[in-house]
Amino acid sequence: MTALGAVIDRLQCPVCRGSLALHGVAVECPAGHRFDVAKQGYVTLLGGRRRFPGDDAAMVAAREAFLGRGHYAPLSAALALALRDVDGLVVDLAGGTGHHLAQVLDSNPALVGLVLDASTPALKRAARAHGRLATVGADVMAEHPLCDGAAAAILSVFGPRNVPEIQRVLAPGGRLVVATPTPRHLQELVERFAGLGMVRVDPGKDARLAASLGGFELTGERVVEHRATMSRQDVRDEVFMGPSAHHVDPGALAVALEDWSEPGEVTVSVTVRSYRSLISPAAVGLKPQER
Ligand SMILES: [Zn+2]
Repeated sequence: MTALGAVIDRLQCPVCRGSLALHGVAVECPAGHRFDVAKQGYVTLLGGRRRFPGDDAAMVAAREAFLGRGHYAPLSAALALALRDVDGLVVDLAGGTGHHLAQVLDSNPALVGLVLDASTPALKRAARAHGRLATVGADVMAEHPLCDGAAAAILSVFGPRNVPEIQRVLAPGGRLVVATPTPRHLQELVERFAGLGMVRVDPGKDARLAASLGGFELTGERVVEHRATMSRQDVRDEVFMGPSAHHVDPGALAVALEDWSEPGEVTVSVTVRSYRSLISPAAVGLKPQER
């Protein structure tokens, strides 16, 4: 069975919320809404127009190259640890190339994985990231193309989150794992390249996260911090794989990097928090419009 076939009964039609079935190269609901499976194996389930295109090809290529060199390996390991005792479906929201989720699946054979992401270049890569990883194109700020209570766990690494949708698609008592950068994350780059538009971690991030997760109980928290040794190419990829890509001019960064003595040490600092959904089993099964 394909990775998509293994999760198809957890997905729902983005137009009518009907069940979905995989028929050859298309996914269909009983009402006849039809979504083509791309040749790489992913399917895009959008009810309306795509509001955000997601990361472009250059950002995705930078991310794949950078993560492939292992600079965030301790974070992948911490995410795997946070999901070591879960079985069933784990959904990575805005999961990009599937890099972290593939390592989570490697360390826990009881899990099947699903990446939701808006970016076509990311979906193409995620679709071949792991044999138990399915890939669906979706807007993670809109309604998720998942049935109520379909996921045993949800992963959100640096991404945007739609908390009511997370509550709806998580099974009762399900696990939410959220990774957010601490104020020390990439501090050497932020200090050095602030004048170029390098994006700082918003100091109000933790408070906003806590305020948004009223329906969850915090069950675990750890800071994953290490000093990564980065070449100039690593720094370029790190800057252009994330939000700073929209602010920093590549030419200006190239000039500024001329006196970066490589390799240089850069702090990677991320908080990984685990939460348990407090939603009661009785609430699952209600249609979203009834809540
Ligand atoms: Zn439908």
